Amino acid sequence: MTERENFIRARDNETDDRYLGTRWVRFHHFDAVEKTENNVRVEARKHDPLADGTKGRSYSGEWLFVDYNATDEYAPLRDEPDLFVKFASLADNDPGTTDGRYDIMLEWIKKYGVLGLYPAGNFGPDLRSEREESLFLFWHEVGRAARCMALYKAATGPPGLLQRSGAPGKTLAEKRKWAETTLFDEVGSTLRRECFPKLFDLYSQVREDSGETTDVGLGWGFRSLLGAMYLQMAWRITSRRCAAPGCNNIIGLDKRSDAETCHRNCKERRRYHRNKEAAKLSATSHEATAPLN
Ligand SMILES: [Zn+2]
Repeated sequence: MTERENFIRARDNETDDRYLGTRWVRFHHFDAVEKTENNVRVEARKHDPLADGTKGRSYSGEWLFVDYNATDEYAPLRDEPDLFVKFASLADNDPGTTDGRYDIMLEWIKKYGVLGLYPAGNFGPDLRSEREESLFLFWHEVGRAARCMALYKAATGPPGLLQRSGAPGKTLAEKRKWAETTLFDEVGSTLRRECFPKLFDLYSQVREDSGETTDVGLGWGFRSLLGAMYLQMAWRITSRRCAAPGCNNIIGLDKRSDAETCHRNCKERRRYHRNKEAAKLSATSHEATAPLN
C-alpha cells in the first residue's frame, strides 16, 4: 500500500468529510523582495485590475476577486490528502544550492500555496500571510517534515529500520520510545501553534425529513498550510494501524471494527509470529520446570 493510500485512510478514519473544506489561496506570481546570502524572501503582490488609469477610484468587495494574481482557493485537506508526504519528500531531491532550492520552492508554492509562516499583519494576531515565503524557513520546514516521516517509520516499521535509525537507547523498546516521544513533540507543538478546534456550522445540509437546521460538528481548523499538513500527519499517527510485525499500514473503514490487520497476508504473518512466540515461551518454561537430576 502506498503512503498516499495510508494518508487517505487515516484521514477518513479520523474525521468527517464535511470538516475538510477549510481553504488556502494560490497565486500565479511571486516577486523576490529581499535577498541575503542565505535567504530570499518572496511575496505574491496584489495585481489590482483598477490600478492602471483609474486613479482615485475605489471599490468594495472580496479582495480575492479583484486580485489578478490570485489563481484560486482550494481545500488542502480534501484535495491533497498526502501533502505532508509530498512536502517531506522534497528533502530526497534537495539540490543543496540556493538557486536549485529556490526553483523547487517556487514550483511548490505556485502549486500548493505558501506555508503560511509569516503573520498577516493588521488583519488579526492569529492569521498568517498567504502571500509571503522565505527560502530559508521553507527548507527548514522540509527538513523537519522529513525527520518526522523518518521517526514515524522507525517507530512503527521493522526492527532493522529502528536499529539503523540512530535512535538513542540500549534496547529496541528504548529506541522506539525515544522515536515516538520525539515525533509526538514535533507534531504536537506544531498543532498547538498552527491548528485549533473549530465548530462547523452544517446548516446548509438541512435534513429534508425533519427540517432540522441546528446541525453543528466539531472538527479542526488551521492557520497555515503547514498546520494543515501536520494535521494529516497527526491523523496518520492516531489512526488504527495494522498489528502485524513491521507493518504500519492503516486499517481502512471498510474493514470490520475488530480487524487488527490490514490484509489477509498480514493476518497470516501475525498468527505465525504469535505461534512462534508461544512455542518459544513454552519451551523456556519447560526448561525451567525440568527436574534437576
Ligand atoms: Zn499490514
